[in-house]
Amino acid sequence: MTLRLDDTHDAALRSWVASANAPDCDFPIQNLPFGVFKRRGAADAPRVGIAIGDRILDVYACHRAGLFAGQAADAEAAEAAAACDRPSLNDLAALGRGPRTALRRQAGALLKEGDDRIRSQADWERRLMPAMKDAEMSLPAVIGDYTDFYASVYHATNVGRLFRPDQPLLPNYKYLPIGYHGRASSIVASGTPIRRPCGQAKADDAARPSFGPSKVLDYEVEAGFLVGPGNALGEPIAIGEAEDHLFGICLVNDWSARDLQKWEYQPLGPFLAKSFATSVSPWVVTMEALEPFRVPAFPRPDGDPAPLPHLDQSGIAGRAGLNATFELHLLTPRMRESGNAPFRLSRANCRDLYWTPGQLLAHHASNGCNLRPGDLLGSGTLSGPAKENEGCLLELTLGGKEPIALPGGESRRFLGDGDEVILKAYCEAPGFARIGLGECRGTILPAHPLAGAGGIGPGNPSAGDSPREA
Ligand code: CA
Repeated sequence: MTLRLDDTHDAALRSWVASANAPDCDFPIQNLPFGVFKRRGAADAPRVGIAIGDRILDVYACHRAGLFAGQAADAEAAEAAAACDRPSLNDLAALGRGPRTALRRQAGALLKEGDDRIRSQADWERRLMPAMKDAEMSLPAVIGDYTDFYASVYHATNVGRLFRPDQPLLPNYKYLPIGYHGRASSIVASGTPIRRPCGQAKADDAARPSFGPSKVLDYEVEAGFLVGPGNALGEPIAIGEAEDHLFGICLVNDWSARDLQKWEYQPLGPFLAKSFATSVSPWVVTMEALEPFRVPAFPRPDGDPAPLPHLDQSGIAGRAGLNATFELHLLTPRMRESGNAPFRLSRANCRDLYWTPGQLLAHHASNGCNLRPGDLLGSGTLSGPAKENEGCLLELTLGGKEPIALPGGESRRFLGDGDEVILKAYCEAPGFARIGLGECRGTILPAHPLAGAGGIGPGNPSAGDSPREA
């Protein structure tokens, strides 16, 4: 199965936006991810833009300037550009692959080295291409539904072992993508502070549970897949068409309160341990931009069952997986004060996911459940075979038993107040330009002052705070 490449993937392409040509830039001309921005301090409504270097292409403003109109061949690009006059990606996502690809091609042509159509417009820097530093980013989509999967067999095995040492993986795991319905209302844009949740927890040696601030707060590194056109209720999506219903990929941090989770999760799964916040990155990298980084699906070990027909991707076996590296960096208040750089805690790759993005989507719709444009599918915690690939503190510290040493003499079992968690991701492959997903950030705020009413007491419980451990 060959990759669906075109001239927008040419590694030799350069942009007249000089910052886009830097080797480590997340947003070169081969990427062109979509996001929702607003000029800082301006009264205009947020709308869809394309990241290029350190600037944002205001797609609709370019459309109004006539830059996406003209020949009949541009009709699809113009249709997509018109859908960018919105405060979300939903309408663009609904249009599907054709118009999105046409827009990508046309935007790439406008930004290509030597093209001066944008720069010949009056006041183009302000009107058509504001600097990222002068823009505020919103959530990329109005996310009607959020589903979180459990697609990493490494994560599922590591966590399962903590809870069920004799049977880490349950019998269904290798037959279907395990998931649960998450909470869409508490999905927040990158940079939004995360308040430490309160809830009910029960220590192993306690007779009864108590209510108070979570003492075991964690992050989860995840890939997020944004749904494109979607399906009508009662109409499943065939596995062969699943990828046509994916818009693109973003970063997701599925914040998790492990003490709440441990007490509440049986028998119906996660609830308040997860629903207090989920952070999402501003830029969505399209499936088209990801094409050079498609790889074979995770090789199933001998003895594992073959996927059932509704999940059988043998037709695109060579490109069903995705080679994207995700990194997690932590910046504690003390590191920040002493000028230390964020410290990388993990690095993992989407190619290690047992279930592919297409399988997650097709399985979700297989019972007739309707997926809608802008719905978010989380991969589940992204972990790999090695210790350094583990995508949450629960795994890295073995449930808090083995604290992680940080630069400057600190350590962490779980997150402390003031800790900032930074996700990054990028795709690299020989012969292609590196592209990035940007960042997804969140800083932990102390629990709500009313938390003390539950009896545990207010303030920072911070089970991972190092001074008390040292
Ligand atoms: Ca999760």
